[in-house]
Amino acid sequence: MTRSTCPYCGVGCGVILTPVANGIRVKGDPEHPANLGRLCSKGTALGETVGLSGRLTAPLVKGVETDWDAALDLVAARFRDTIAGHGPDSVAFYLSGQMLTEDYYVANKLMKGFIGSANVDTNSRLCMASTVAGHTRAFGADTVPGTYEDLDQADLVVLVGSNLAWCHPVLWQRVEAARAARGTKIVVIDPRRSVTADAADLHLPLSPGADVALFNRLLVAIADRGLTDAAYLARIEGADAAIAAARADLAETGVAPALLDRFIDLWCATPRVVTVFSQGVNQSTSGTDKVNAILNCHLATGRIGRPGMGPFSVTGQPNAMGGREVGGLANQLACHLALENPDHRQAVGRFWNATRMADRPGLKAVDLFRAAGDGRIKALWIIHTNPAVTLPEADAVRAAIAGCDFVVVSDVTGATDTARLAHVLLPAAAWAEKSGTVTNSDRTISRQRQVIAAPGQARPDWWMLAQVARRMGFSGFDWSGPAAIFREHAALSGIAGRFGRDFDISGKARISDAGYDVMDPFRWPFSAHRQGGRFFADGQFFTPDRRGRMVAVTSRPPAAMPSEKRPLRLNTGRIRDQWHTMTRTNRAARLNRHLGEPFIDLHPADALQLGVAPFGLAEVTSDHGSAILRVVLSDRVGRGQAFAPMHWSGETAPTGRVDALVPGALDPISGQPELKAATVSVAPF
Ligand code: SF4
Repeated sequence: MTRSTCPYCGVGCGVILTPVANGIRVKGDPEHPANLGRLCSKGTALGETVGLSGRLTAPLVKGVETDWDAALDLVAARFRDTIAGHGPDSVAFYLSGQMLTEDYYVANKLMKGFIGSANVDTNSRLCMASTVAGHTRAFGADTVPGTYEDLDQADLVVLVGSNLAWCHPVLWQRVEAARAARGTKIVVIDPRRSVTADAADLHLPLSPGADVALFNRLLVAIADRGLTDAAYLARIEGADAAIAAARADLAETGVAPALLDRFIDLWCATPRVVTVFSQGVNQSTSGTDKVNAILNCHLATGRIGRPGMGPFSVTGQPNAMGGREVGGLANQLACHLALENPDHRQAVGRFWNATRMADRPGLKAVDLFRAAGDGRIKALWIIHTNPAVTLPEADAVRAAIAGCDFVVVSDVTGATDTARLAHVLLPAAAWAEKSGTVTNSDRTISRQRQVIAAPGQARPDWWMLAQVARRMGFSGFDWSGPAAIFREHAALSGIAGRFGRDFDISGKARISDAGYDVMDPFRWPFSAHRQGGRFFADGQFFTPDRRGRMVAVTSRPPAAMPSEKRPLRLNTGRIRDQWHTMTRTNRAARLNRHLGEPFIDLHPADALQLGVAPFGLAEVTSDHGSAILRVVLSDRVGRGQAFAPMHWSGETAPTGRVDALVPGALDPISGQPELKAATVSVAPF
């Protein structure tokens, strides 16, 4: 029996694993603080997803099996030659929130401290980059203020752009338990009437993209009703400007006035309020402003960092937070230190004995693949992600990868759309075959542990990255295992602590290998000075003057607007029982039984007008691509709106690749693409 962590969503549930004849038996861990023994359908089926079918078990160069030495020598030589010929910004890594923190740490150190570029970005850019930017503007650091216990202690939980019941099911179970125990009220703010909205006390079906307008209305009401917290606001800059901007924001919310008033009355009357926000907020060209519109309301009232109160970003992936902590985004450094700060760069460079420090931000995900498409990126290493399916304008991304001079993919399978385009395929150890740590949405760091052997020549990602670094001639990449990498990461965070940054786990810097093996989940910070808990109730922030910021924000519509040619607004998202591009979840028969094929939800009146039949096939087309989807008539979407899940792949038309439809329009601050507001036409297929 081994304690580990579920590899899917950012809830980060603890699991107890027991190897059995045909796989692994999985139970919820009653002692893990995230889930207290609960699991959802995906976590319960984990044991059925472990198996050798389709696994990549040996390195492949141009489809021909080889050994590690040959493959790693080739990768190192091609990266070294490309950098020598075209400079450090001609190479890039594209990582994944599925990676363990130790793997992420090595990739970030290699690119930013030795190659000398910050072209290391991750699919977390698609997930929560707007939250990182919004947190940083308001708090001076990317700090999640609250904890999961706040959900247990709140009297009102507001879910914005979050189908929590399907996408973070165990957190939803916690919210429902709080409702049963203390009568917690639940409000859902979402253009779509999701399953979560069905169960809410109030559902506000706002117009797509109207979140800033809605929270600006709330901020004005807070000010007009005298509910601002004067003592707390003494620690906050920008309140007057933010309230004035909110007052001047006259954009429509799309919510009936009486319904909006009920929500505002409830929010104003309920001190213990947690506002949970997710991809409906982040995946937008105004995602950062949406985040700050939410934070403004909590800062204005001082409802932050106290039991049952605060804004709460829930991350999509199991280790989006760990990736942020090591600095695995193109605009970050490490340990929440700032890439643009020369003192921070110098301190990290000295710690790493870096030979060539990156000194400016690198290319963010969408721009990174555009650079691969136009030849600026000439060598690309993609780790545990499938951008040929999941990035916006996916057809163009696929062409960019296919046309790139040298592409390395490390993954557990060679059967993804992206892996098929690789020059070099490296076999990676999968969940339950490797060890390391992950950080969940409430800053709890937990161990993932190995319980079965990796098949064939499959190896952990940190090992591959370190081997390539050493073969490129760099020193400082000779760890004995993930425990040694974790110690280095924890020691580096002590520097962040000395600079007054939030991420500090230096209290773990001397942990032994044996201690790491048995390390219990813990919430950061974990230093000599501070452990766990919430942030900001004391009015101390991480800005240079230690004061928080309310940011003046004004509504902007989505980048693409419906037209005669593309009359429908397409929202994309997840379904309950699948994860990402289904490379793992589709191995479990019971998960495929839930919703078994790509589909589009259409309002019945729109379907009638478009001439598409219920359960017939429709061709859905945007200016960027097309997909063939099963038509489902649904009043969950309003007139003129549609919803399609993002999980399905496909190499040859027709396919269900929904992100082929989505434009690569970006939030100007976070670089996060607008994945929930494409415009499309629909016709019978
Ligand atoms: Fe895994 Fe998320 Fe389900 Fe928990 S809620 S079992 S972390 S998928």
